[in-house]
Amino acid sequence: MIILEFLTKDENEIVLAKRYWSRDEKGKFRERVDKILPYKNMITVHQFLPFLSKLARAYDPNQTCPRCGGAFPVHCRTATSAYPCISIIKCISCIQNLSEKHKKDEVRAKAQIANKDKVNRAASINYNLLPDDAAIILLSIMRAINDEKLYKNFRIDDCHTVVNYSQAKFIAILIEHQAVIEESSKSKLKPLYLNDGEFLHYSHNVVYSLVPHSGSKFPEDPFFLLENRVYKNSSLIKDLWVEYALSECMYFLVNKCNALKLTWPTDISDILFNALHLAIHKYSISQVWTLIEQAVHDTLSMLEKDDAHIDKETLLPKIIQSYLRQAVDEKRVVNNSARPKNHPLETLGEVFYEKFSLDENTAGINFSNIIEEKISGHITAHDFQDAGILTKKLFCSMVMNGNGPEILHSFAKNIEKGIGFEKALCRVISDYSVEKYFCEKNTQLGMFE
Ligand SMILES: [Zn+2]
Repeated sequence: MIILEFLTKDENEIVLAKRYWSRDEKGKFRERVDKILPYKNMITVHQFLPFLSKLARAYDPNQTCPRCGGAFPVHCRTATSAYPCISIIKCISCIQNLSEKHKKDEVRAKAQIANKDKVNRAASINYNLLPDDAAIILLSIMRAINDEKLYKNFRIDDCHTVVNYSQAKFIAILIEHQAVIEESSKSKLKPLYLNDGEFLHYSHNVVYSLVPHSGSKFPEDPFFLLENRVYKNSSLIKDLWVEYALSECMYFLVNKCNALKLTWPTDISDILFNALHLAIHKYSISQVWTLIEQAVHDTLSMLEKDDAHIDKETLLPKIIQSYLRQAVDEKRVVNNSARPKNHPLETLGEVFYEKFSLDENTAGINFSNIIEEKISGHITAHDFQDAGILTKKLFCSMVMNGNGPEILHSFAKNIEKGIGFEKALCRVISDYSVEKYFCEKNTQLGMFE
């Protein structure tokens, strides 16, 4: 039975509405429309329905709203259901109520964010206590973005010069260690969207800012601190290098696809990531680039053949995956390639090169040992036991290398910062690779025995 809510008081019109909507116990309409029409000057159903809607509102109890369980409003017979069912859409009043609720939720969410931003803004951290991976990213970001922007408002899109691909993944490490805060209330673009009743972030619209350095007795330049930091945690550095290498490979791939107008499926499978992972533990980044390049070109020629048996969507990831596997199993020759012009070295790559001598040409099987060597090569006063030996080595190196004024200036700056004589000495020795230089020359020249 269709539920009717009459909008007219005219008896004849009430009867007419009942005749149109009346159903028997099996759910069939009792009277055919061509028995009801013509009515007045209305001949067709299309002419009749607008008139009928002014006489009564009709609700079908066989179709219920999934939220409130109420009967669903219907405007014609074809919109009704002969059997009980739950509608896939909500009724109008539920939609209106929800939209009001969402508006209130949004106001509340914005107020919470503004409050959180206020608390975050007051925070500060000691950069010396950051883990090595966060410190490397922080140094890279400081090299790429000016202080004015960095401490006030920067966005993911500003980080392209830090790392070419998946910048959010690297920023997430800084957020995790509270070195960077999200300041969504500052965003001019819409930072939130509603998903299933929950407000989520558009990461590209979120405004970030760097948490200032604190926790030192002496005023220290945070950039100087990070530039001169002694790195110790090899496993964190290795993990970060792998993430960086993956992002370099992905950027190369996306760039290649864009240049050749090849659509890249947005859903990249874990299997492909695993294959890339294996490859960068064996080959250099530049060698993986050549494998990707071959795969992209071969995919393109296969697509040009227009073979109906080919699944165009998954062809490219499959070919890349298979080439990487073949290379890892040494069934495919892998060449080196130079860094493409449209794929510049970013500041994270710069830092890896300067601090750990790693770059796109470092063989995947070597990066782990190189990092270990670099870390164990950092000199401490304890290793020497005698600051006198340390000083002697420093002066010998300055004479041999001809960079005395530069080293002394850096040494004086360290003392000025108040870090103490031995530590200042260790820093310059570490920064100018004095120990390494000393040992090499010592052996070559037979000097300073
Ligand atoms: Zn409802």
